[in-house]
Amino acid sequence: MTSANTGLIDRYGRRAVDLRVSLTDRCNLRCSYCMPPEGLPWLPKQEILTDDEVLRLITVAVTRLGVEEVRFTGGEPLLRPGIVGIVAGSAALTPRPKLSVTTNGIGLARLAVPLRDAGLDRVNVSLDTIDPERFAAIALRRRFDEVIDGLSAAAAAGLTPVKLNTVLLRGINDDEAPALLRFALAHGYELRFIEQMPLDAQHGWSREQMISAAEILASLEAEFDLSPDPAERAGAPAETWLVNGGPAKVGVIGSVTRPFCGDCDRTRLTADGQVRNCLFATGETDLRGLLRGGADDEEIAVRWREAMWGKLPGHGIDDPSFLQPDRPMSAIGG
Ligand code: SAM
Ligand code: SF4
Repeated sequence: MTSANTGLIDRYGRRAVDLRVSLTDRCNLRCSYCMPPEGLPWLPKQEILTDDEVLRLITVAVTRLGVEEVRFTGGEPLLRPGIVGIVAGSAALTPRPKLSVTTNGIGLARLAVPLRDAGLDRVNVSLDTIDPERFAAIALRRRFDEVIDGLSAAAAAGLTPVKLNTVLLRGINDDEAPALLRFALAHGYELRFIEQMPLDAQHGWSREQMISAAEILASLEAEFDLSPDPAERAGAPAETWLVNGGPAKVGVIGSVTRPFCGDCDRTRLTADGQVRNCLFATGETDLRGLLRGGADDEEIAVRWREAMWGKLPGHGIDDPSFLQPDRPMSAIGG
């Protein structure tokens, strides 16, 4: 292998240009579909990459492996004290990657401007309900107002388009799709629904309980006119529809019932320095050991390419032999 920027390709011809970086496995909410009420055994501090180590791996990904976009996630990425510096360091790279954060919104009111000034382009904020009581029931914390304030701050700071991620849960908030869309339209946010996936630490997912993309669309169509979005999907997991003729849009990420694995362009780095070639991968590749063992950038790049080459064609949720990965979503980076 040369040091050229040869890209992260796999044997099915997909090229990973979108890097998800988990900055922490910790979280200040306890969304029922993600974490148990008592939280999880957090990763030991010495196993978490330092800010410099995170930046070094992002640099390898961007300058040697063709990564074009970096999204910071977690756990809750805004809990990472060094996030502004990590964003600034990433924005200083050539070529400059697109930079975004997926967050529950808590802390965004304070961080939106510093993050924008550091070079952040956009945010995705998770919001499953616009009812504060339901929020407390789903996330087990009374912090709804902070999320709403965070959303306003992100929009005011120009971190746009501000996208909302919503997971609907049967019998809990599955009647709320139209209200959430009304809320998003009123504020100029782009709403995307995500089908619930078998990635919760409690292993409580079942296909029967999951609200499917078809159900979400039917519930929206009772109130809105949805027409196919002529814009190309281009590797994006969300299928989008124009709302009442556009230009506003709504998206549905049908990871389970309308999988997009054939177009997947992601590679993932966990907070403890493991590369995962898929959310549902059962194996991972240790870059932290390599990094701390004194490997140079090209050795790291070679290992990363090997990790991606072995990516499976699909997540296999429908396969009877499907095994949920050991790491829950919060420890992989959603
Ligand atoms: N804490 C941040 C947040 O909530 O946005 C970032 C991490 S969170 C794991 C990333 C996204 O994954 C959120 O939008 C969340 O709703 C989603 N998520 C978590 N568990 C999920 C599951 N089992 N199925 C589908 N989406 C899930
Ligand atoms: Fe925390 Fe995000 Fe998981 Fe909710 S979905 S518990 S905010 S990591």
